[in-house]
Amino acid sequence: MLFAPVGEAGQRKLAQSRIAIVGCGATGSALASLLARAGVGYLRIIDRDYIEPSNLQRQVLFDEADAAESLPKAIAAARKIAAFNSEITVEPHAADLTPDNVEDLLADVGIILDGTDNFETRYLINDFAVDRTVPWIYAAGVASYAVTMNVLPGETACLACIFPDSPRGLVETCDTSGILNSAVNFVASVAATEALKLAVGAREKVRRTLLSYDVWTNDFATVNADQPRAGCRACQKRDFVHLDGEGRPHISLCGRNSVQIHERTRPIDFEEISRRLAPHGEVQHNDFVLRFWRDPYELTLFPDGRAIIKGTTDTAIARSLYARYVGS
Ligand SMILES: [Zn+2]
Repeated sequence: MLFAPVGEAGQRKLAQSRIAIVGCGATGSALASLLARAGVGYLRIIDRDYIEPSNLQRQVLFDEADAAESLPKAIAAARKIAAFNSEITVEPHAADLTPDNVEDLLADVGIILDGTDNFETRYLINDFAVDRTVPWIYAAGVASYAVTMNVLPGETACLACIFPDSPRGLVETCDTSGILNSAVNFVASVAATEALKLAVGAREKVRRTLLSYDVWTNDFATVNADQPRAGCRACQKRDFVHLDGEGRPHISLCGRNSVQIHERTRPIDFEEISRRLAPHGEVQHNDFVLRFWRDPYELTLFPDGRAIIKGTTDTAIARSLYARYVGS
């Protein structure tokens, strides 16, 4: 309230605002912590994953007891927030955001924040947000590098304007390349502040660029995102392929305890991925197939990106493992 651009009136607006955070890993838990402490009245936290000890280096809402219990991140986040701000409402959903549930999970919020680790979910958020004219904020980080962009549907560029297609081939992920916790907290701080501006009605102060910053090298860049790109599939042609589920690799159960991800457009370099996966489990490959064991799962990967994940029949877990170890 003492910060004049927010003031008492702004604080009241924060108490009335409703924000969804999709993904509650490193970026998501920093976003949730900042916004809950700022007094945002309603937070919906959606995450498909469970807490592991290796998460604690960067996921600020969780502790060793949560990891020991393998608690779902959404549930643990809601408990932690209740312990420091019991006056706001937090609605946790331990779920994978999919075309089937996006309507239920993202309806009735004023702002959507990206705490995900994959482009598949981001394109789904983008299609939903553009279709419904809901502002959303893209945020991502890997290694020492972070990037964020505000999407104001009908005004600025959308995610598909800037990145028409998701990165192909093997992309860096936090589980293979690591991430500095300061890079995550940097990008979450920027994104949370932009969300506060939107929530208090300071729309003219909202940044209209794609911002990237490397906290290690100090390389800083912005790309103008003030205008939509002519011909953009999502915001100009309104062709919402991800809402229809078309942008999603087909997933099926196979065998008694396996899930198959029918990705076919991600050429995999087995030598390269073997090097990256080696610190995380046992890995072996020949020219045709790569196997990676990380208890209790076994990942079998083919050169075109197709994968079989043994040890689960839960497609959300399979998607999550694939995003973490292969890419999204
Ligand atoms: Zn667009």
